[in-house]
Amino acid sequence: MSKRDYYEVLGVSKDASESEIKKAYRKKAMKFHPDRNSEDPKAEKKFKEASEAYEVLSDEQKRQRYDQFGHRGVNGNGGFGGGAGFEDIGFEDIFSRFSDIFGGDFGGGRGRSRGRRSSGQPGSDMKLRIELSLEEIAFGTEKKLKVKKHIKCDECNGTGAESEEDFEMCGTCNGTGEVRQVRKTMLGQMVNVQPCPECRGEGRIIRNKCSKCHGEGRYQGKETVKVNVPSGVSEGNYITLRGKGNAGKRGGEAGSLVVLIEEKEHEHFERDGNDIYYDLVLSVPDAILGTEVEVPTLKGKAKIKIEEGTQPGRLLRMKEKGIHGLNRSGIGDQFVRVNVYMPKNLSDEERKHVEALRGNEHFKASNKEDDGKGFFSKIKDVFT
Ligand SMILES: [Zn+2]
Ligand SMILES: [Zn+2]
Repeated sequence: MSKRDYYEVLGVSKDASESEIKKAYRKKAMKFHPDRNSEDPKAEKKFKEASEAYEVLSDEQKRQRYDQFGHRGVNGNGGFGGGAGFEDIGFEDIFSRFSDIFGGDFGGGRGRSRGRRSSGQPGSDMKLRIELSLEEIAFGTEKKLKVKKHIKCDECNGTGAESEEDFEMCGTCNGTGEVRQVRKTMLGQMVNVQPCPECRGEGRIIRNKCSKCHGEGRYQGKETVKVNVPSGVSEGNYITLRGKGNAGKRGGEAGSLVVLIEEKEHEHFERDGNDIYYDLVLSVPDAILGTEVEVPTLKGKAKIKIEEGTQPGRLLRMKEKGIHGLNRSGIGDQFVRVNVYMPKNLSDEERKHVEALRGNEHFKASNKEDDGKGFFSKIKDVFT
C-alpha cells in the first residue's frame, strides 16, 4: 500500500512553519485519539498516520530528508539490505511524544497492547551506539554486535509453562485479558480499557512454571546481532532492527534494537556531506616547479600530479573518491587543499638565492595566472 504524503496527512502546505505543523497535528490528534474513538477502528489508523507525519515534519533534519527523498528517506526498508531500514519512529515513541505535547494528560504507552490477546507482554526497545570510521561510512559495512538482553526461552518456547496443559483461564477477566472502566473527563465520557491486572492481559494463568526461565518465557543472555549499515550515513542517524530488542515476557513480541550511528574522527580527512577534504602541504620548489605526490584516499594511497605554478589555496578535485551517498544518491569527491610551506631562518647561502629571485620580474606578486584568470578558490580536476 502506498503511503500518503505527510503534508497531505496533516493538511498543511510544503512550506508550513513549525508552529503551523504543530497546530495541525494537535487538531488531528485530538480528533482521532483512540481513547475518544474506541468504536472506530479507522480512527487509530488515522491517529498513527498523523503522529508519524508529525514525528517527521516536526524534526528539521527528518523533514529535510523527507523533502529530498520522500518516505524512503525517513523510514521503511526501501533500498537497504538485511531488514535494516532507517526508521525514525516506533509507535511507543509517538506515544511518549504525544503525552509531552498534551502535558501528559492522555495515557502513554497503552497503544501497543491494544488488540493483542492471550500473548505475553512485549519486550522493551534497546538502544546501542556504534562508532564507525569514515571508510566504513563511505562504502557501507556489516557490523556484528554482541548484545546483552532478554532472550526467548528455548525450553518452553517462550510460553513460561512446563507444557501446554499447565495453563488455565484467568477468572478475573474470563480469558479476555482486559478490564473495562468508564470515566468522566473534561472531554466527555471515556471508556478506558486496561489489561487485566491478574493475568497481565494474557487471559490465562500458568500452573506449573518452566524450570529454566521460572515462568518468564525469557532469560538474560547474550546474542550476536548483525547490522547492515548502508553507505553514506551520518552521526545521529539510526537504524531500527525490529524484533532484535528484548524478548517479550511469555511469548510477547520482542522489542526493537535501535542502533545509533556515531562518526569517528579521521586522521586525514574532514567530511562535508559526501565530499571529503585533505590538506596537502607542498614545499616552495614543488609548488613552483610541479611534482607528483602521494595522498591518502579512503581506499589506500594515490598519486596525483601537481602542475607547475600551483597556488596555495587551490582545490584539487579527485572525482568520485569521496563517500558513496545514502540511497544511491551519488558518490562524493575528494578535495585536496593545497598549502605551501614557507621556510624561516635561512642560511646565508639560501638567502642569497631567494634575494636573487626577489628582483626577478617573474617573481612579482600577482592575483592573476598566466592565462589572465584569477586563481583564488579555483577548482581543478586531477587524475590519479
Ligand atoms: Zn485476567
Ligand atoms: Zn522457559
